[in-house]
Amino acid sequence: MHYTDLLIPTLRETPADAEIASHQLMLRAGYIRKVASGIYTYLPLCMRVIRKIEAIIRDEMTKSGAQELLLPMVMPSELWKETGRWDYYGNELLRFSDRHNRDFCLGPTHEESITDLFRHAIRSYRDLPKNCFQIQTKFRDEVRPRFGLMRGREFIMKDAYSFDRSKEDAHKSYYTMFETYKRIFTRCGVTFSPVEAVTGNIGGSLSHEFQVLAASGEDQILSCNACDYAANIEKAQIKPGLTMSSSDTEKGQYQSVNTPGFRTAKDVCDFLSIPTLQLVKTLILTTDQGHLAVLIRGDHEASITKLQAELDLSVCDLASDQCVEQLTSANIGFAGPIGLEIPVYADYSVSSMSDFVIGANQTDVHYQHVCLADFNVTAFLDLREACHGDKCPHCEDGLLESHRGIEVGQVFYLGDKYSAAMDVTYLDEKGQSHVVEMGCYGIGVSRTAAAAIEQNHDDKGICWPLAIAPFHVEIVPLADKGEVWDVASKLYDDLRAHHIDVLIDNRKERPGVKLADADLIGIPYRIVVGMRGIKDGVVEVCCRKNAQVMLHTPIDAISYICKQVQHVEEV
Ligand code: ATP
Ligand code: MG
Repeated sequence: MHYTDLLIPTLRETPADAEIASHQLMLRAGYIRKVASGIYTYLPLCMRVIRKIEAIIRDEMTKSGAQELLLPMVMPSELWKETGRWDYYGNELLRFSDRHNRDFCLGPTHEESITDLFRHAIRSYRDLPKNCFQIQTKFRDEVRPRFGLMRGREFIMKDAYSFDRSKEDAHKSYYTMFETYKRIFTRCGVTFSPVEAVTGNIGGSLSHEFQVLAASGEDQILSCNACDYAANIEKAQIKPGLTMSSSDTEKGQYQSVNTPGFRTAKDVCDFLSIPTLQLVKTLILTTDQGHLAVLIRGDHEASITKLQAELDLSVCDLASDQCVEQLTSANIGFAGPIGLEIPVYADYSVSSMSDFVIGANQTDVHYQHVCLADFNVTAFLDLREACHGDKCPHCEDGLLESHRGIEVGQVFYLGDKYSAAMDVTYLDEKGQSHVVEMGCYGIGVSRTAAAAIEQNHDDKGICWPLAIAPFHVEIVPLADKGEVWDVASKLYDDLRAHHIDVLIDNRKERPGVKLADADLIGIPYRIVVGMRGIKDGVVEVCCRKNAQVMLHTPIDAISYICKQVQHVEEV
């Protein structure tokens, strides 16, 4: 491709609202343009990256036995009402009515559609197993769209759905996809880690996320320094166990202390000059089982996801200020378990505490020298987020380490969540009817492109991994005519004849401008053709990532590039 034939509207300045590298560089290097919040145009360079990621996905999905189809992006509300998600999915589901006042939504994910298809398409055990995938634009009306393609409202996703006869077969399909995802992300050239995950809005009981490790990632991951345990913080377990304290404070010894206006654990502890792990926080929650209180050590964070799972709650939110004030007869910030007439659940770590501080259910007052015998605990459970330095829940000696990650894919074992709700059955060999077992598997295609930049850039621009770069190589001739141009243009033809994706900068620009733009757009290899080299029969082959420069004859330059490309295609 000739540079002048491409639309590459680069920007000199970094747009002010772009906070992370991938967002800034995709705007500056002419890959994307914003149309509305979370909605972007993919410009030609970006499209080439997207197509390369899609090609890797298609190839690996097809090799794993999955088939491609395309479901409509618009879905009628009836399907979503069947599974109950029309009401439960929340505001991310963009709903609208057509001219006949019929309700529709834009697909944020497609379990309902595919399940509807399969309940009509599947009859007997002979029709199973099946795995179908599509690559399509999704819409989620995210609360906080940000970071460009990383968290868009409109974005490209590959979603796949498996249908099996039994739980065992469904698990097999799940792990086939798990391995397929490992190959896909390896081929894309990103460093990633599969981690245990919660299932959120999609549902089901077993799930892994594929996390690209990057400091700018929105997710926190905990991984063991001794074994291969790794989990999203939302899921990471704590080594379970009660270590009931042999209290060094006796029951009823607690005393009131004035804490005027100090509501947070940190403020109260600073005021009383005690460490935060000597305070117990009391959270009041509103759930489908009524109000309840949760006790968490001051330096820990409560996990509502875990509470929901432990108590099987379908609704669980922090109670409103008004509700807390009613239940505690105090302003918000002073809740405590003594005298509170709702069930109290405490995190395991509270079980080993004694002589601690808690809210007194009285405005501007806490109790100090409290012990566990001073109030009733309904149950001790795993209710907090794990953190850096916690013991690994899976091995003896390991400690958890914290990392940031970008979720680029997630696999779910769904069981019969959708197939039972929508009645997808098959007849076995004996003519008996069974509900089909399902799994679903997503990859954020556009997010993967952004995540690859987060991992591969420097202060000059993007450094694409070879497998997903818009071009493998960019030729930069230092003149636009004469011998320099002739050598460059022959190189261009020869590389193309070898099926190499090659861009040639044919602009009438100064070398400095061409080289700076080449750094910015981030093509992995650059061949600089100049008069000085030509005199010695060589061209400069430069690797964008490590800035290594090699002098090769044009023929050797071609075989070097071909070898690199062949190498990534064989991964
Ligand atoms: P997140 O937790 O980041 O909101 P999710 O868990 O809701 O994502 P899934 O339902 O698992 O997302 O969707 C499959 C994949 O689609 C994700 O792993 C992610 O790569 C991608 N994805 C999800 N939401 C977005 C978004 N708003 N913008 C871009 N990609 C997204
Ligand atoms: Mg997910």
